[in-house]
Amino acid sequence: MISSGPVLPGRTIGILGGGQLGRMFAIAARRMGYRVHALDPVQDGPAGQVADVEWVAPYEDVDTARRFAAAVDVVTFEFENVPTETLSAVAERVPVYPSPEVLHTCRHRLHEKRFLSGNGFPVADFEEITSEATLVSGVARLGTPSILKTAELGYDGKGQVRINDASDVPRAYAELRGRLGVLEAFVPFSCELSVIVARSRLGEVVPFEVVENRHSRHILDVSLAPARIPPKTRAAALELASAIAEKLGLVGVLGVELFHLPNGEILVNELAPRPHNSGHYTFDACMTSQFEQQLRAVCGLPLGDPTLLRPAAMANLLGDLWQNGEPLWEKAAAFPDVKIHLYGKTEARPGRKMGHLVAMAETAEIAAERVLAARSALVRP
Ligand code: ADP
Ligand code: MG
Repeated sequence: MISSGPVLPGRTIGILGGGQLGRMFAIAARRMGYRVHALDPVQDGPAGQVADVEWVAPYEDVDTARRFAAAVDVVTFEFENVPTETLSAVAERVPVYPSPEVLHTCRHRLHEKRFLSGNGFPVADFEEITSEATLVSGVARLGTPSILKTAELGYDGKGQVRINDASDVPRAYAELRGRLGVLEAFVPFSCELSVIVARSRLGEVVPFEVVENRHSRHILDVSLAPARIPPKTRAAALELASAIAEKLGLVGVLGVELFHLPNGEILVNELAPRPHNSGHYTFDACMTSQFEQQLRAVCGLPLGDPTLLRPAAMANLLGDLWQNGEPLWEKAAAFPDVKIHLYGKTEARPGRKMGHLVAMAETAEIAAERVLAARSALVRP
């Protein structure tokens, strides 16, 4: 659907998905005077708690999605795996940003890798895996170690198996359970980086600072902003992310995950066409947060200034921290330079993202020490 002018404060934004990304988007939108409707299968979710209206329905419920679309002026999402049929039904009634075409590319590892390599963006060598025989030949070509991933529906390392030698092939293939796979050469990176970039309906492209990410058990653990990298690498990463957003014709924000190699080269790991966990620090530490930038982009407003006001670090709070009971919030609150963000989730499961902490300091390194000290302090012994 073609839309005309900007969606101005006072109007209503619909968000597909009701997790923490939707919650922080809703906070940013409500702060600017917008109304927010969130659609999610689970009641009293992180976004629903903050939205004006929470719609509770399975993503497959096209009728409800149509009524939801009729109630709002523009739709964005925080969960990219909404079924195509539902997305189309919504997109027939109201503008959806990023577009369903961008989603189609970014939610499927093969589409995404073909888009990237086809446009000259650097990625690790990969093979499409449709059978055990293609996995055998793929492993022979790419070597070991290599990583087998499901083409769709993976997150936080789910749907991934590492293949250390050819004898791992049958077990690894079995884990695909008949689904389409992508085999990737193992990248011996020196660190992982990310760039969140926004592109507006008006075509303006604005990246945030390059962030350095540390993962634990394949889940993002700590992010440092700015990344401790040479200026040349920083410039290349910003340029790369901006060029990808442009090439995609993105409207919204895009998280670009990168591998930084020991020789200084950078490769694109994956794309997320929405705010990204590694950009949560922007809520506290930048002139404009990634969530406000998403709002501005999808509403057709000029983009905000992404300037990092002070070096920062973010640490995720996973459900594991609840293992001996509710964390000791007053201990974390005793760090005056640390911000506590909680997503309102009632059930703490291991590996589940429950919240995060952000510290700001003279350098990102000092901020990381502070945020980790605050996280250690809140664990109930
Ligand atoms: P997810 O969708 O779960 O974030 P990713 O593809 O980003 O999936 O993989 C999660 C993490 O696993 C990455 O951030 C990285 O630490 C590691 N990883 C993934 N692919 C590779 C690779 N080809 N080489 C080395 N490490 C990898
Ligand atoms: Mg990832």
